[in-house]
Amino acid sequence: HIPVICIDGPTASGKGTLAAALAKRLGYHFLDSGAMYRITALAATGAGLPIDTSGETAIASLVQDLSITFTAGQILLDGVDVTEAIRSEANGMNASKVSALPQVRAALVDLQHSFHRLPGLVADGRDMGSAIFPQAPLKVFLTASAAERAQRRFKQLISKGISTTLDSLRADLEARDERDQTRSASPLKPAQDAVLLDNSDLSVEKSVDLVVGWWLGKQPF
Ligand code: C5P
Repeated sequence: HIPVICIDGPTASGKGTLAAALAKRLGYHFLDSGAMYRITALAATGAGLPIDTSGETAIASLVQDLSITFTAGQILLDGVDVTEAIRSEANGMNASKVSALPQVRAALVDLQHSFHRLPGLVADGRDMGSAIFPQAPLKVFLTASAAERAQRRFKQLISKGISTTLDSLRADLEARDERDQTRSASPLKPAQDAVLLDNSDLSVEKSVDLVVGWWLGKQPF
C-alpha cells in the first residue's frame, strides 16, 4: 500500500507550490501532471499537429513515443531541456486545449501512475483525486480568488522579466478555468471526498502545515 495525497484545483491556485513543499516535507515523490499536458502541447505544436479534435488521434499516439525525464529541477523531452519552454502562457493555453481531448488524457494515465512509488506520492493536477488516484486517502481541492491568482501569476512573470498585465492574466486564467470546467473528459471539479481549501489569505507555510496536519490525522491507513 503506497500512500498518495492529491492536490487539485484551478490554474494558479498555488497547487504546484503547495504540492512540491508537501512532498519535500514528507519525503514523497512529486507528480506535476500539468507538466505532462504542457509537454504534450509543446511536442504537438512542434510536430505541426492541430490542437483540436482533428489532431486528437495523432497527438495521443505521439504521447506514446515521447521520452520524458523529470530530474532534479529539470524536465527533458527527448533529451532537450524544456523546463522553461513549457511554462509560457501560450503553451499553457495549448496545454489546456490538448487536455480537453479524451484520447490524450487516456494516453497519459500510465505515465502518471508510474510516479506512484514508495515511500509515497503527492500528485498535483486537476483530476488526481477524481480520476487518476481515486483511492487516495487525502484529496485536497485548492482554490483562491481569481484576483489573487492573477496577482500571483503576475508577480511570477514579472520576476522572470516577462512583461504582462494583470487584466490579461486574469482574462486568460478565467478562460482556462472555463474550458477545464466544461470539457467532457475529466472536467475540473472536486472529488466527492475532497477537502476544500481556500488559500487566498494563507501563506504557503500555513497551507503546508494544515495539510500535513490532515495527513497525520489520517494515519495509519
Ligand atoms: O497546472 P498547469 O497549469 O501546469 O496545467 C496546464 C494545463 O493542463 C491546465 O490548464 C489544464 O487544462 C491541464 N491539466 C489537466 N489535468 C491535469 C493537469 C493539468 O487537464 N491533471
